[in-house]
Amino acid sequence: MKVLILGGTTEASALARTLAEREIPALFSYAGRVTAPKPQPLPTRVGGFGGVAGLANFLAEERITHLVDATHPFAERMSRNAVAAAERLGTELLALTRPPWAPEHGDRWQRVDGIAAAVDALAGPPQRVLLAIGRMHLATFSAQPQHHYVLRLVDHPDAPPPLPLPRHTVIVDRGPFTREGDLALLREHGVELLVCKNAGGAGAAAKLVAARELGLPVVMIDRPALPPRREAHSIDEVLAWLAH
Ligand code: NAP
Repeated sequence: MKVLILGGTTEASALARTLAEREIPALFSYAGRVTAPKPQPLPTRVGGFGGVAGLANFLAEERITHLVDATHPFAERMSRNAVAAAERLGTELLALTRPPWAPEHGDRWQRVDGIAAAVDALAGPPQRVLLAIGRMHLATFSAQPQHHYVLRLVDHPDAPPPLPLPRHTVIVDRGPFTREGDLALLREHGVELLVCKNAGGAGAAAKLVAARELGLPVVMIDRPALPPRREAHSIDEVLAWLAH
């Protein structure tokens, strides 16, 4: 048996720890998006594979028997490639995902089905907006330049080109976050509205709890649809699948 974990999430790191402790042969893969990725207790490679064909070659060369897609629920391309490459080679595939968040009493969510729809939802007078969507799609929000955007990012976006958002504040931090910390952040920056992706999980949920307590509206971006695949929500389920 040899496992490949597609990582970039807290769950992927937790699985890597468990496999290393149990001495289950495994490799870890990062996309290479952040400058200092968390070190893993497994042999680690960094960077894209080169599409479905590149991933299929890698799986064959490394004799991977079990592929665990533990990427973020919004890493759509990687997840689609994993399904296609595993199908091509007959490799076992399991997605380790977190259940999506559901609105609770007191939440003021507007659900939208993608980044473009989130941008449209921001039409209107200027507000202070916590844009908690990562770094990749920030430029799209230049279509609503009237707002002051508070951006929480893993790395400082100091590399050119500059962010095309005329008014913004960057906060460099990485999760897991706490309710107290996020309450303080929303208050300190006078945030009036949040925009986020329905990532699920505990580490990023603090901002939703804080928004609920402050009665703030949230534009919640729903997850992209993915092809059918076997899914697990816990490390134990992954271990049971590996043992099978
Ligand atoms: P994506 O759009 O689905 O992937 C774009 C390309 O990046 C893939 O086609 C693949 O390149 C490469 N890639 C992605 N994940 C990889 C991995 N674990 N190992 C090797 N190559 C990988 O992905 P994304 O949304 O940019 O996410 C990139 C990474 O950030 C992922 O590890 C994801 O878990 C993490 N992340 C994403 C988000 C988010 O909101 N999207 C949030 C937190 C963390 P090739 O086609 O060349 O193989």
